Amino acid sequence: MFTILPSLLSIHPAYLLPRYGNSHTRYVDRRDPVTSHPVGKKNNKSGVNNCDRSNIDAVTIHMMEIARGSAESLFDGVNAHFGVLRNGAVLHLHDESEMLFASHDFNCRSIAVEFEGNYPYDQDKDGEYRWWSDTYEKPRSKQDSPTIDQIAAGRALVKYLRERHRILYIFGHRQACAKVCPGPHLWYNIVKWGVDELGLSDGGISFTTSNKFCSGAVIPADWRDAKWAVDLTGSFSAATFSGPSPIRGNVCIPP
Ligand SMILES: [Zn+2]
Repeated sequence: MFTILPSLLSIHPAYLLPRYGNSHTRYVDRRDPVTSHPVGKKNNKSGVNNCDRSNIDAVTIHMMEIARGSAESLFDGVNAHFGVLRNGAVLHLHDESEMLFASHDFNCRSIAVEFEGNYPYDQDKDGEYRWWSDTYEKPRSKQDSPTIDQIAAGRALVKYLRERHRILYIFGHRQACAKVCPGPHLWYNIVKWGVDELGLSDGGISFTTSNKFCSGAVIPADWRDAKWAVDLTGSFSAATFSGPSPIRGNVCIPP
């Protein structure tokens, strides 16, 4: 199969991503608007901290902790190379040659992918998950799982990046900084899927890493339970959107 890689490299992601995803998977190039946007990380070029971006070998999965609807420009401030929206759009926010401060010890080696949504972001003392939207006034409702089209688009993006950059690893942000990100839904349906179906490595069941800003934690055993699986045989429904969300929320941005 590797003999077809050179031909795939020349195919534009706008054509490749829908082929890997579904009819709602859509590539949107926001790199130029982000570069000129006040909150764009336009100075994070390769070479920062002696980072050689020619050695990218990983994708790091994150959750945004926000939902902003389908207006693509509202995501220009998200500090990731790609954003995967709940409607299946894949936003290209920063060129992969830029090193972003998005994934702690994975920053130099990886491409950061943020998924839109109010996923579980914390756990209480009893281990129950808390949703970001819980911290806002009602009637904000919970978004308790990704949409079908978002998972299809996320998987399409991982497939694309694997071939475009010869990716070998797929990590959850938690492994480099002990937080919930990306949460059980995205870990099971994107990271574990990448390991099981694409042959990528998540570093192993006990793998963590750290830098001077943060130390990682292992993936909880509970996240490997099939109860988190999103059923991709269903059809997309706008009802999976939960209603209003903060325009300015806390995006998963570490030091
Ligand atoms: Zn994160």
